[in-house]
Amino acid sequence: MNLDDFKYIDSHCHVEDKSLNKCREEVIKRAFDEKVQMVTSGTNLGSCRRAVELKDKYGMYITLGYHPGRVNAEDNAIDKVYRFIQSKEKDILAVGEIGLDFDTKNIERQEIIFKKFIKLAEELNKPVVIHARGMEERSYEILKNDSVSMYHCYSGSLELARELVENGNFISYSTLVCFSDHHKNLVKNLNLENIVVETDSPYLSPIKGEKNEPKNVIKVIESIWELKKDEYSLDEITKIIYNNTKRLYHI
Ligand SMILES: [Zn+2]
Repeated sequence: MNLDDFKYIDSHCHVEDKSLNKCREEVIKRAFDEKVQMVTSGTNLGSCRRAVELKDKYGMYITLGYHPGRVNAEDNAIDKVYRFIQSKEKDILAVGEIGLDFDTKNIERQEIIFKKFIKLAEELNKPVVIHARGMEERSYEILKNDSVSMYHCYSGSLELARELVENGNFISYSTLVCFSDHHKNLVKNLNLENIVVETDSPYLSPIKGEKNEPKNVIKVIESIWELKKDEYSLDEITKIIYNNTKRLYHI
């Protein structure tokens, strides 16, 4: 399949996640049936390896990174992920997800690891996919405008979102847009410049009790349209976001 066969791109998900071991095949098939391509994101050595396998098997896109929740791993283990990503330069669209998480202790060490992987992205000349839960301002301070970044599941302020976009970065709306007032408010007040969409599957499900999956990225686009139907048709929004995603990842 080539990109022209698709109408949507889930710009950030984890179909390589272990919890999908038993249903991965069907999850991917359901997405492809709905013309949804996806970018799956490695977060540790095992998940990075599985992501590369999925790329080879299904032709999906990948980014590889190291999740800030894994701050307590030994240097040695982190170096292994680093070298693995370095060796997959040709396979990846971006380095990520990497970043900071307010809920995880040891912010100082999180920052050291974050900076290490930012350097790697610079070395490989790739954009970065940022996890910045509750740490949006600090993440931006560290990144400055060194690399083009995509803020996955952006949940920060409207002001910062505007500044990020003005400086060429991308904001990703997740399935949280389907039910969260804060996220709906961001959609209402930002234009569609540099906006992409994601599910973060299997997390952030829009349906209680169900695992999230990439085909739900269509629900994200529909939720955006609900809030912007005075300005755009559903088709226009779909196309703009699709093209933004291609621009972000150079595909
Ligand atoms: Zn994620």
